[in-house]
Amino acid sequence: MALPKKIRILLLLVLSFCNVRSQTLEQAFQLYQKHNNPEALEMYEQLTKVDSTAGAANFMIGKIYAEVKNFSDAVSKLQKAIEIDKEGSAISGWSHAYLGQIFYQTGDFRKVEWELNKAIELNMNDVSVDFAQSQLMGLMADEAKFDSAAALARVLMNKHVENPEPYMVIGTIHLYTHRPDSAVFYLHEAIKLNDDKSWVSGWAHVHLGETYLTVGDIEDAAYELNNAIRLNKAPSSVKFAQRLLDSMNYLSPVESPKLKNLTAPKWIVIEGTNITYYFQDTAARHAKIQRYIAEHELAYLKINEVFQSVMPKKMKLYVWDNRELAKKITSRELGFSNVRVCSSNVAFDETVGHEMTHTFCFWSFGTPITFTSRFITEGLAGAFDQDEHNKIETAKKAIAGKKYTSVLDYWKTEDMDEKVLNPVAGAFVDFLYHKSTTEQFKSLIQDQSQTNAENTFGTSQFEQLVKQFDKQMKTK
Ligand SMILES: [Zn+2]
Repeated sequence: MALPKKIRILLLLVLSFCNVRSQTLEQAFQLYQKHNNPEALEMYEQLTKVDSTAGAANFMIGKIYAEVKNFSDAVSKLQKAIEIDKEGSAISGWSHAYLGQIFYQTGDFRKVEWELNKAIELNMNDVSVDFAQSQLMGLMADEAKFDSAAALARVLMNKHVENPEPYMVIGTIHLYTHRPDSAVFYLHEAIKLNDDKSWVSGWAHVHLGETYLTVGDIEDAAYELNNAIRLNKAPSSVKFAQRLLDSMNYLSPVESPKLKNLTAPKWIVIEGTNITYYFQDTAARHAKIQRYIAEHELAYLKINEVFQSVMPKKMKLYVWDNRELAKKITSRELGFSNVRVCSSNVAFDETVGHEMTHTFCFWSFGTPITFTSRFITEGLAGAFDQDEHNKIETAKKAIAGKKYTSVLDYWKTEDMDEKVLNPVAGAFVDFLYHKSTTEQFKSLIQDQSQTNAENTFGTSQFEQLVKQFDKQMKTK
């Protein structure tokens, strides 16, 4: 666990704990600050030969080695600093705290605990004690010693009310001890207090995502995990968030640093009977919005008569006015649906039924679909998009100038351009819908393979249907 802010404070204090304010010690420190490590090291080596500066010089050499991950030399120099510092001054306090951090990185956890407790015990300097307590708190939380971690968090909270770290740790403990409500509270507090949006916020977003997942709120979980990725602090937190999101099969996250200042719209939420609507803006559009809702509620009932879906939650519709912004935030082209959570993102002027049909289809008849094909999935969405235009004519326009042999080619080809595939599939499924019984159509939804269609309709009838459709497609 890295502690950049604390380390900065530590650097400032290095000078102040030197009993002898040697000019060369200051010069060496200036070199170090300018990232001139070779010269700084050389100067510090000289200073180790002088009694009055040996302790501080060994400490600084150890610190520089630790920064370049030369841990074995770092440890021996810091131990040397403690050995020289017989009075157990601040040099010892800091060296123990620093040794704790090194052993943390090398995974030597028993030593971490010993060194950090030593630093706390010496109690030489408020900042070094805070530093050690903060590290120890992280270690205890990692090792699931929640009582010790929480006790340290309380100590730190009482000392500095504005410190976000203990809030993050307590929130995390509450997550892992199944107290989601208070976990959410503490994690949000941590983010609020974390002015410089450091790794603390990164991990707090991740843990918020985890918390929402534990209560089944996938939408909010994805939102928080995407926040962690967008923030891009602490590589391990970003990787963790990415893995969780992948496992949720959810929105692909936004990673571009250009988007740092982009925030999702402050959605205006309107509860419909069957759908919750999120509008970017409703100002001066009252009549339009009312019409929009009425159309969608009606479509919901009509489409669901066919699909008889059993959904785990109320349908959500994010209605974007601005396609560009939607793409920047979600990194996808509108519209798209997250069928598992019954939510769709659509443009205001999109067809009423396409995206919601995807969700209906996924949850149709309360039983999982046994075989999905892109052709039938998009075909169903197209067939029930509630668009009044003649679907065969629309499909013919889409294939104009292209070679067309049979609709079955479209069923087979998985990676076809959606501008061609969707209209053809929509027209074909619409055609089949009008030619099939309720049971036949249900079977087509549940197993979307061509083999199943042949079995359902009977091979010769199915061939006839395909022929009939192809003929319509080929007439000028
Ligand atoms: Zn679609």
